[in-house]
Amino acid sequence: MAKRQDFASKTAKKEKHGKACPVCGEIFTHVLSVNLESSKKEGAYHFVERNVGVCKCNEKEIYG
Ligand SMILES: [Zn+2]
Repeated sequence: MAKRQDFASKTAKKEKHGKACPVCGEIFTHVLSVNLESSKKEGAYHFVERNVGVCKCNEKEIYG
């Protein structure tokens, strides 16, 4: 008797909440991106936090 392997059942469920990218269809993964930016007035640096949606289109830019 040959055993049947069900690969389809291995496919993990993806979270359905969150927006999907209209280009690639991936659900955006939200990553907190922290950039060091300089303030022109004070000549000091401060951290700017941004919540960035990452999908296949821009994951290379975000993760490098
Ligand atoms: Zn995309």
